[in-house]
Amino acid sequence: MKALIVGTGLGGLATALQLQRQGWDVELVEKHHQPGGRLNRLEQDGFAFDVGPSFFSMRYEFEAFFKGLNLPVPFEVEPLDPLYAVFFEHRKEPVLVWRNAQQLANAFSGIEPDFSSRLEAYLKEAAALFHDTEHRIVKRNFTSAIDYLSALASVPKRHLPRLFETLWHRLERHFESEEARVILSLVAFFLGSTPFRTPAVYSLLNYVELRHDGYWNVRGGMYRIVEGFVQLLKQQGARFHFNREITDAEHRNDRLFALVDHQGGRWPADVFVINSDAAAFRGSVLKRHKFRPQALDRMEWTMAPFTLYLGVKGKINQLHQHNYFLGSDFRRYAERIFSSSQLPSQPYYYVNVSSKSNDCAPEGCENLFVLCPVPDLRFKPDWQDAEAFADRLIADLERRTGFPLSTSLAVRVMYTPLDWERQFNLYRGSGLGLGHSLKQVGALRPGNRDEQLRNVFYVGASTIPGTGLPMVLIGSQLVMKRIHDYASTL
Ligand SMILES: Cc1cc2nc3c(=O)[nH]c(=O)nc-3n(C[C@H](O)[C@H](O)[C@H](O)COP(=O)(O)OP(=O)(O)OC[C@H]3O[C@@H](n4cnc5c(N)ncnc54)[C@H](O)[C@@H]3O)c2cc1C
Repeated sequence: MKALIVGTGLGGLATALQLQRQGWDVELVEKHHQPGGRLNRLEQDGFAFDVGPSFFSMRYEFEAFFKGLNLPVPFEVEPLDPLYAVFFEHRKEPVLVWRNAQQLANAFSGIEPDFSSRLEAYLKEAAALFHDTEHRIVKRNFTSAIDYLSALASVPKRHLPRLFETLWHRLERHFESEEARVILSLVAFFLGSTPFRTPAVYSLLNYVELRHDGYWNVRGGMYRIVEGFVQLLKQQGARFHFNREITDAEHRNDRLFALVDHQGGRWPADVFVINSDAAAFRGSVLKRHKFRPQALDRMEWTMAPFTLYLGVKGKINQLHQHNYFLGSDFRRYAERIFSSSQLPSQPYYYVNVSSKSNDCAPEGCENLFVLCPVPDLRFKPDWQDAEAFADRLIADLERRTGFPLSTSLAVRVMYTPLDWERQFNLYRGSGLGLGHSLKQVGALRPGNRDEQLRNVFYVGASTIPGTGLPMVLIGSQLVMKRIHDYASTL
C-alpha cells in the first residue's frame, strides 16, 4: 500500500516514519526546497538559524514515540534552566524564570509577596487539569461532537469554572503583582494568542513549563530533529520531492485517486496524509465551501510572526539563550495585536540566542533570532514598512542591551507574515495555525480524517490536538489510528 504525504513539517515526517515502519511505501511531496516546514533552518555566512521553533516541552513524548517504533531518538536534548529571562522597561536587570523552585522563589522575592505558596496553589490546580484532560481529551480521536461532549463531561467538574474565564483572570485571582501576572501569562503567546483571550484551562501550560517536564533545547540546533527523521526515512527507502506544491485533486465518490501539483504532475496513492494546513487545504485544494477564504477569515487564527535572523560580530553578554522584551502597556499591546492594521509603536518581542549553547555562529559571534508577534495578513496585508520596523526592533534591542547591534551585523534576514505565508502556505501568515479557543479545539477543530474522502487524513498544527511540536507529534499518532481503522476495512 502506498501513502503520499503532502508536506514535510514535523507532522508529515512523524506520520511518514510510522507508516514506513508498518510496511507502507511512503512518498513525500513538499512545496519548499528543503524539509521541516516551520521547523526549518537558514544558513548564511557561517551563521545557522532555527527558522521557527527554538525549544520544546514534553520531551518524553519524543522518547515514547521512538521507543514505540523501536528506534533510538535521533537527536540529543538538554534542559533549559533558566527557562527564559524577562526584560521589563522599568527594571535594570531581567527577571530570570528558573525551573529550579528555590531559584525561582529567589527571583520573585522582591516582586510578589508569598510567591512560593501562591505559585504552589496555582500549579496544583493546573497540574490536576493537565492530568485530568491528557488522556480524556488531548490524546484522543473523537467519533462525533457527542462523543467529544461526553468526553468533556467525564472531566472532573471542579475544572469547569476555567472554561468561562480567561487565563488573565485566573492569574489575577492568584497573584497580586502585575509583573508576576505578566510573566506567568507569557505561555498564552506560545498558543499564538494573548492571556486576555486565552481560556484559563491553558494555565496547564504553566505546570508544563515550571513543574512537569520543563523546556528543552536540541544540541546542535532544532533542525537536528528534522535531519534525524529524514535520515531514518531515507535509510528505509522513503522518497522525497521538493519544490512541488499540491494545488488540485482528482476524486470520485468517497475516494481520492491522485493529487496534482502546480506543474500538472500527478501523485496517485492509496492513502493521502495532508500536513498542509488542515483548514486551508480543504478550501484551496479540495474546494470545500465551508473552508472558502471568507469562511476561513471568520475563524480565529494565531498571531503572525515577524522574524529577524541576525548574525552579530561580538558576544552580547546581557542576553540569555531565551529572552522576552516587554514594553510598558501590556493590555493595550495585547488588544491591538489582533485587530490593528498598524504595527505596535512599542513592540514586545522574543530573542533567542542559540549560539549561547550551540556551535551555530563563527568564533566570537552570536546568532540572534528575533520574533515579534504582529497582526496577520487579514489586518495588515501591506508590509512595505518591514525594513523600517526591523530597524526599530534592532534599535530597541540595542538600547535595552547597551550592545552596538546595528553596527555589528554580519547577517540581517527578515521574514514578514507574507514570507511565512508564501514559503509554507501558512494561512494569512498566521504562525501557529488555527487558534485554540474553545470552539476550535477537540471535535470542533478541523478533523484528522476527511469528511467526504475516506482515504484522506490530516496531521499538523491546525488539526487535533493543536500546535507546538509535542502536540503535532501526538497528532501524528492519533492520525495513525485513523489510517489503521481505514486500512482494516479494505
Ligand atoms: C516563528 C515560530 C516559532 C515557533 N516556536 C515554537 C517553539 O519554540 N516550540 C514549539 O513547540 N513550537 C513552536 N512553533 C510551532 C511549531 O513550529 C508548529 O506547531 C509545528 O512545527 C507545525 O508542524 P506541522 O506538522 O503542522 O507542519 P508545518 O511546519 O506547517 O509544515 C507543513 C509543510 O507542508 C508544506 N506544504 C504546505 N502546503 C503544501 C502544498 N499544497 N503542497 C506541498 N507542500 C505543502 C509546507 O511548505 C511545510 O513544509 C513555532 C512556530 C513559528 C512559526
